[in-house]
Amino acid sequence: MHNKTLAELAEGLRNQQFSSRELTEAYLTRINQHQELNAFITVTAELALALADAADARLAKGDAGPLTGIPIAHKDIFCTDGVKTSCGSKMLDNFIAPYDATVVAKLQQAGVVMLGKLNMDEFAMGSSNETSYYGPVKNPWDLNAVPGGSSGGSAAAIAARLAAGVTGTDTGGSIRQPAAFCGITGLKPTYGRVSRYGMIAYASSLDQGGPMARTAEDAAILLQAMAGFDERDSTSVDRPIPDYRAALKKPIDNLKIGLPKEFFGEGLSAEVAQVIETAIDEYRKLGAEVIEVSMPNLKLAIPAYYVIAPAECSANLSRFDGVRFGYRCANPTDLTDLYTRSRGEGFGREVKRRILMGTYALSAGYYDAFYIKAQKIRRLISEDFKKALSEVDVLMGPVAPSVAFGIGEKIGNPIEMYLSDIYTIAVNLAGLPAMSIPAGLASGKPVGLQIIGDYFAEDRLLTVAHRYQQTTNWHQLTPPGFA
Ligand code: GLN
Repeated sequence: MHNKTLAELAEGLRNQQFSSRELTEAYLTRINQHQELNAFITVTAELALALADAADARLAKGDAGPLTGIPIAHKDIFCTDGVKTSCGSKMLDNFIAPYDATVVAKLQQAGVVMLGKLNMDEFAMGSSNETSYYGPVKNPWDLNAVPGGSSGGSAAAIAARLAAGVTGTDTGGSIRQPAAFCGITGLKPTYGRVSRYGMIAYASSLDQGGPMARTAEDAAILLQAMAGFDERDSTSVDRPIPDYRAALKKPIDNLKIGLPKEFFGEGLSAEVAQVIETAIDEYRKLGAEVIEVSMPNLKLAIPAYYVIAPAECSANLSRFDGVRFGYRCANPTDLTDLYTRSRGEGFGREVKRRILMGTYALSAGYYDAFYIKAQKIRRLISEDFKKALSEVDVLMGPVAPSVAFGIGEKIGNPIEMYLSDIYTIAVNLAGLPAMSIPAGLASGKPVGLQIIGDYFAEDRLLTVAHRYQQTTNWHQLTPPGFA
């Protein structure tokens, strides 16, 4: 059963080939068998079985939707009512969320069965899942390699068939880069398409939740349930939600693809470049026209992001003070001691580094030099995209400069780690939607093709991705040992 896609499982449930309880039990067994991956922080087995029974009742009555009875899991950044929500941090190791994030509630209404909460980099800060308080996640394709981050547990869970679909969040690449490293499909929606309510904030102007799954079709089904305006998130956008599944059937006639030449320069590994070129050739065979475009300000994306994201995180994380919720140090002597030791002991190294960078960048005298400058660069990058997307329908390129690197290989060198997001971060700065789809293997590890579209063109991205998945089988590969 676990080898079926989410769409196939939905079909099987509707045709009563198996029940949601049977399916849920099968996934729970697999999760148990593959604890070596460390993909889950919390497994909610009892709750899952209760939800499965409720779903089976709905299925029997015939009022089931495409997600009724489908076992999924959430990145542990989404608040889940009555269930531990750690955000990968010691700071929230004892935090039981008192409400559901909108994304969680919407999926729940659609009838999904929550299996548990997935491992992630602490507060979503990282590209390898190594900053998690709960230890690194292993990549199912190579247990010595990272799964990518920060949604590393999410990507590993899909690749290892531990859930039919999962949620992730993407502030600078955290859906796309782990999707690429684990050989799955990930979609980062337009900023504002999916509510951020109840999604623990990292950098609020960049954060966006989205689906991760085996195929574009599965991502479409999940996004359909996740998307939409939410009055509790003032940055969510009130705009009709297209029928994403219907979009899959649309033709890609007259597709014009732009290849930003800056995506193919120095720093891109030759084997990844090769896979991407082959994937682009596939689109040429499908009739697409491919032209080169330029994004002259792309090289400034990482420096701008590492001012803006830490600045926002330093403000967002000030709420973790040892008073209201989360970790509190033992025997504080006074209020200052309570603040400093709770934060000092509760946050990990990378989070502290970001808070320091952000506080520095926002301090008097440096605000103009760093923060304002970074915002100006952000505007220039958006304009680069606007110009490029006025010439073509979608942009394509690699998701990451290399395949999954080894656990321990980059964690000691933050700059090198930050560079692994070079092709994803600019998209967040502009707020655009983008996908990563499996496009091949290099040295036995998956390579992701990135497809970037115009604002709210998720439907177009899904059409383009689905077409490729109809003519190639990279998305069907299973990591050896996880069949
Ligand atoms: N790796 C980037 C960072 O550490 C992006 C993380 C993310 O998208 N959440 O900030």
